[in-house]
Amino acid sequence: MTERVGTEPSVFTRILRGEIPSEIVLQTDDVFVIRDIAPQAPIHLLVIPKTDEHPDVVSLAAHDPRLLAHMVEVANVAAAQAGATDFRLIFNTGAGAGQTVFHVHAHVLASQAVPLGERTMAGGMPAGEGA
Ligand code: 5GP
Repeated sequence: MTERVGTEPSVFTRILRGEIPSEIVLQTDDVFVIRDIAPQAPIHLLVIPKTDEHPDVVSLAAHDPRLLAHMVEVANVAAAQAGATDFRLIFNTGAGAGQTVFHVHAHVLASQAVPLGERTMAGGMPAGEGA
C-alpha cells in the first residue's frame, strides 16, 4: 500500500511513538533503526530520521545534508551490529521507483557476515530487487 504525505502520521512515526509494534534495534537523538517487516535479504534494516518533514532523500539532501550523512553513519553501525561487513544502502525515491512510505528512510541490505575465506561459498550479494 502506498502512503502519501498528508496530515496523518507516517507508519514510521507511529512506530517511533509506540503505536505500531516494532523493535528499535538502534537509535540516536535524530535517527532510529528497525528491521523491515518484509525482508528482501538476510539482513534488511530501515534507517529512519525521527523527523517526518522530509518525504524522500532528495528533499533531505537539499534541506538537511548533515542528517543525511548521519543516516549513512548509523547505517554502517547498524549493519555491523547485525553482523554484516558490507551492505547495500538504498533510498527508493518516488512511487515509480517503489517508494511506499513518504517519510525518508534508507534500506540496509546485506548477507550474514561470512568468515574470510568462505565468502565465495556463501557470501554472495543479497537479493535487493524491489526493496
Ligand atoms: P519503501 O517501499 O517506501 O522504500 O519502503 C518502505 C518499507 O517499509 C517496506 O520495505 C516495508 O516492508 C516497510 N514497512 C512498512 N510497514 C512497516 C511496519 O509496520 N513495520 C516495519 N518494520 N516495516 C514496515
